Amino acid sequence: MSRLPVMSSKRVLACSSSENAQDLAPAQKRLRKDADPVKPAATVIGTKRPALAATRAPISRPLRAAGAATVAAAPSRGVIKQSVASAAAKGGNMKQPVASTGTKTGGTQKRNPWDLKGKVSDMEDKVRNYQTKVKTLNQENEVLQDSVSQSQRKMVQVEKELQMQRSQIGEYERKLQVLAGVQDELEKVLSDKNVLQKELTNLEGKYKVMETLRDSQETELQTLKMKLSVQESTLARVQANLRDSEEEVRSLKETVAQQKDEIYAGEMERRRLHNTIQELKGNIRVFCRVRPLVGGGLPKHIQLATSDNKAITLAKTEESHTGKTADTHKNYNFSFDRVFGPRASQQEVFEEISLLVQSALDGYNVCCFAYGQTGSGKTYTMEGDEFDETRGVIPRAVQQIFKAAGKLGEQGWEFTFTASFVEIYNETLRDLLYTGKSSKRPEHEIRKTASNEVTITNLTYERVTNEDQVLGLIALANQNRSTAQTAQNDRSSRSHSVFQLDIEGVNAGRDVKCKSTLCLVDLAGSERMVKSQSQGDRFKEMTAINGSLSNLGIVIAALANKESYVPYRNSKLTYLLQGCLGGNSKTLMFVNIAPEPDSFGETLNSLRFASKVNDCVIGTATANKK
Ligand code: ADP
Ligand code: MG
Repeated sequence: MSRLPVMSSKRVLACSSSENAQDLAPAQKRLRKDADPVKPAATVIGTKRPALAATRAPISRPLRAAGAATVAAAPSRGVIKQSVASAAAKGGNMKQPVASTGTKTGGTQKRNPWDLKGKVSDMEDKVRNYQTKVKTLNQENEVLQDSVSQSQRKMVQVEKELQMQRSQIGEYERKLQVLAGVQDELEKVLSDKNVLQKELTNLEGKYKVMETLRDSQETELQTLKMKLSVQESTLARVQANLRDSEEEVRSLKETVAQQKDEIYAGEMERRRLHNTIQELKGNIRVFCRVRPLVGGGLPKHIQLATSDNKAITLAKTEESHTGKTADTHKNYNFSFDRVFGPRASQQEVFEEISLLVQSALDGYNVCCFAYGQTGSGKTYTMEGDEFDETRGVIPRAVQQIFKAAGKLGEQGWEFTFTASFVEIYNETLRDLLYTGKSSKRPEHEIRKTASNEVTITNLTYERVTNEDQVLGLIALANQNRSTAQTAQNDRSSRSHSVFQLDIEGVNAGRDVKCKSTLCLVDLAGSERMVKSQSQGDRFKEMTAINGSLSNLGIVIAALANKESYVPYRNSKLTYLLQGCLGGNSKTLMFVNIAPEPDSFGETLNSLRFASKVNDCVIGTATANKK
């Protein structure tokens, strides 16, 4: 762009300098060229030359011309003759003046030798002629000298101009160089400019994007500001509410703490009262439960009192052997803490025991037995079936314990539960929670710790935290029991099974602890065998069962009568349950009876056994009343 003007100026400069050179050089040449043609001018006589040609005559030539003039002033015949002859040879203007005088001489016609006058006049003419020529030549010479000096002046001037122009050229060249540098710089700047331009376009694009972004963000910001102000006012409101709520919470906390104390005091009072009630009811209680007939309905020989649920009558009609006397009717009346008829549901039965389960959580040992002949409903009462409705005492008790423990947890109580399940067969202990190889079954012994606690060596004590775990253990125990029995030997009916749940409660906040054991025992069948029928293992079994059951009766009676000596050690069962039977322990015995008429004898035996226990207890209670 801007380079073009520079180029043109360059060209202009070059051009002007060359033109100047042309102007100057030819001037010199012309001076040299013109010098020669002037040479013959001196020889041309009488010729009228143009003024310009005369001015170009060289400086040295006029000297010859002057010489000629000198010759002319004192001409010799030979010289004149030669000059005229050469002029005549060239056919010059010299002939004409001669011809003009021809009237006298007849041109080339020689004058007669005598015509001296003519000859003189001719000579005079010639002299005049030469004189005029000399005059003319002198004039020409002057003109030429003028022109030479003029030219010299001009030349000096031209040289000066040349010098000036050269220095100007030098100047221009320097400027040109500077301009070239500037041009390079300019080019660089231009490329930089291009790059910057691109960058600028790029940045402009970005700027536009940023602008739109900024606009959108500004609107967003505006929205957010509005929201913020709304939120701020909400926050202020909420904070005010919060302060109120905090105040409320503080006062509520105080109330809660107060109420907790009250609850704790209430809980302690409840325990005390609950225990008082249980003690008033008797620490040893006997419940009777009549199993329904297989076909349903009530057996005739068992009569239940409709007025209360405490009496049961076993009626027997003995036919007269002779037929003369009337049939004799004999009624055996028994009363217990509670009698459950064949229609009593598992739920009803459990409601009575649940109070004792609560006692277990309150820190009292609780023991519950099921006594009765095989098939009378002991296992049904204790374990029941799987279904909710028909579940027995053990699963219900476990459920209640975990529920109640959860509630007590709200008051700061923390409980740990440990379950064990043991079978006593022929006065030997068997771990029903054992899961190892049957060949490696360990032997067990009952030991008493320093703190008078009863433990069994090598027994599985399983830590449990929920109901399902316990139910799993019960299932495992049943499995273990069934593998031990054969078709001929219904071992489960000839062994006692003892489920024990050790309960430990801690209320760290109040620094209180409690420890108790809940024992639920499914006893072996209480049926007596005719001695002659029992032999070998059967006899041994019978002796063991009879021994442990009668000892249980004796122990309970001794406890009820508060006798100083209680023969716990006489059987494994009582020895094992020692901790759960004495002191403040609560004992409940179910006497299960079968309704079939052919079980009459066994039923009578069972009721007698149970009432012996019951009578002791009632006797004590009665005595206390008095
Ligand atoms: P035990 O354990 O004393 O030998 P079971 O508990 O095994 O006797 O009872 C024998 C049968 O009688 C079982 O089939 C049982 O389901 C049933 N049974 C026992 N008691 C009841 C009851 N109260 N209601 C319904 N069925 C019962
Ligand atoms: Mg059973």
